[in-house]
Amino acid sequence: MPTIALENVSKFYKPKRRRKGPVHIDMGVEDVELTIRQGEFVFVVGSSGSGKSTLLRLITGQDKPNQGKVYVDDKDLNWVLKLSRNRAAVLFGKIWQDPTLIRKKTIEENLALASKIALGRESPRLVEVRIKKVLGLVGLKGVEKKYPVELSIGECRRVELARAMIGSPPILVLDEITANLDDDCIWDTLHLLNDINRRGTTVIMATHDSQYVNILRRRVITMSEGRIVGDVQKGKYGDVLEREQKLPPLSKLGTDLI
Ligand code: ADP
Ligand code: MG
Repeated sequence: MPTIALENVSKFYKPKRRRKGPVHIDMGVEDVELTIRQGEFVFVVGSSGSGKSTLLRLITGQDKPNQGKVYVDDKDLNWVLKLSRNRAAVLFGKIWQDPTLIRKKTIEENLALASKIALGRESPRLVEVRIKKVLGLVGLKGVEKKYPVELSIGECRRVELARAMIGSPPILVLDEITANLDDDCIWDTLHLLNDINRRGTTVIMATHDSQYVNILRRRVITMSEGRIVGDVQKGKYGDVLEREQKLPPLSKLGTDLI
């Protein structure tokens, strides 16, 4: 079961061209050291622009680091993902901030497509069973023939969760999926994630919702200006812990690197 490790990882974005003034480099994340073991439940918190989404994209291999390496079980993630096209979908179930269900396809068709990407072509009967199973898991039986527009935002998010789970990936990566949901929906979603996690799936979730983080008391990683400034087991929102390691000196990155 996969352990994810980031070693000395930095990601920066090219500056916008400006005629005058110093060159400004947008740091996504800087000098991140992090290990997440199979079965952990990790909240990634921090203000807007602190690097949460960048960190998640590095973990799933969607972004490649400019410095450092991401490992999955001691193997270079980049290399692992190149082995086969569906590797990313087998390893990671992902839900991003903006809803991504295909509007012109039914829920069933949306899920069938995800199943095909993760697991390849299978008999329609098998796919049907799989779709029923994941919809049952998220408490949404009987919506197969509906279109996303016929469901509430909360239900759509649950379909996305079902879609993320369809290939039974060992790791779920979720970026602010509770934004725009009401309290009841957020609790339902977190309950669901708790259950999924208890069965062994790693859950890595970026969020702004301090009250839920404080009640659930799981591992809390706090980002600030692209760096990890807190990493606390059974933590609370805002817990900042100087880990054994000292924070490295501020970036000496120069324009020659971009
Ligand atoms: P968060 O998810 O915590 O709001 P992000 O990871 O989105 O933070 O952003 C971290 C920093 O990286 C910000 O300064 C942001 O402007 C910059 N950044 C993120 N994505 C891009 C991008 N595609 N192009 C340029 N800058 C980016
Ligand atoms: Mg973000």
